[in-house]
Amino acid sequence: MSEPKRTAGGAVLLDGNSLRDKIIADVRAAVAGLSSAPCLATVLIGDDGPSQVYVRNKHRQAQLAGMTSRNESLPRDVSQRDAEALVRSLANDPTVSGIIVQQPVPEHLDGEALLALIPFEKDVDGLTITSMGRLLRGLDSLVPCTPLGVMRLLEHYGANIAGRRAVVVGRSSLVGMPLAVLLARKGADATVTIAHSRTADLAKVCREADIVVSATGQARSIGREHVKPGAWVIDVGISRADAGIVGDVDFAAVESVAAAITPMPGGTGPMTVACLVENTLTAWRRQHAR
Ligand code: NDP
Repeated sequence: MSEPKRTAGGAVLLDGNSLRDKIIADVRAAVAGLSSAPCLATVLIGDDGPSQVYVRNKHRQAQLAGMTSRNESLPRDVSQRDAEALVRSLANDPTVSGIIVQQPVPEHLDGEALLALIPFEKDVDGLTITSMGRLLRGLDSLVPCTPLGVMRLLEHYGANIAGRRAVVVGRSSLVGMPLAVLLARKGADATVTIAHSRTADLAKVCREADIVVSATGQARSIGREHVKPGAWVIDVGISRADAGIVGDVDFAAVESVAAAITPMPGGTGPMTVACLVENTLTAWRRQHAR
């Protein structure tokens, strides 16, 4: 690896954009050697602005990786029955390698029931009960993209994880919980604390960590007082402010005390998409291995 970029205060900048580009280039090279291009299918329900941006970005990166992709848009007031029929048809379509139902879905829909229709081998978001259960059991599975992206960033930039203390702030099934499992499981070997909104003295808990990952959506809530000198700080949270996208981490306050830090934007977001594209390649391979 060439000399990493550093922040003004000297921390290594964990650049998700450049690692994403490398991953996409590697996937593209692998796709060129396949008998057919993997296909990523997204289901977008309603007209949520950020979701539209995320979905467009996923298609763009899948296409840059030499894959095909298709988006199925459904109106906001679609019935559960019609939404399920669409997911079922993608599940049964042999040309579709991976399926995402973009979250959040409108409140009147049963999102769990939609997820449950995605077959395990096409679950490129890794969010179904089967994928999650297999992750916990240490079995081969497609792993949720944001936690996987965090692990890839840490590994790429050479973080010491084994035997170290990691604090994951946030306990959702999308990010915090699977990330805690990935950090703690054999091979990564961190000692992990999961913090949340009821954690007492969060700053003290975080200060014990060699690796702090925040996934709460509380803008700039992780400050200098949360970070032990020399810790690695990963920002997953996204909040929208007048100034644009803001992370959970107060970057200006933390970058001079951390050893390494993600920018927001440009850190975990691009890694999420890169891991989704990589998962789609893995899904294709599994479906064609039989
Ligand atoms: P959820 O709302 O499902 O979970 C948020 C978690 O943060 C909860 O566990 C909650 O605790 C905890 N929390 C909230 N406030 C505090 C607080 N003040 N102190 C400590 N913990 C707190 O969110 P998601 O996990 O889905 O997403 C988290 C953030 O990550 C969001 O901003 C989202 O936009 C972003 N995101 C970013 C991605 C990326 O690629 N960078 C991808 C996916 C999400 P409790 O359980 O007690 O309520």
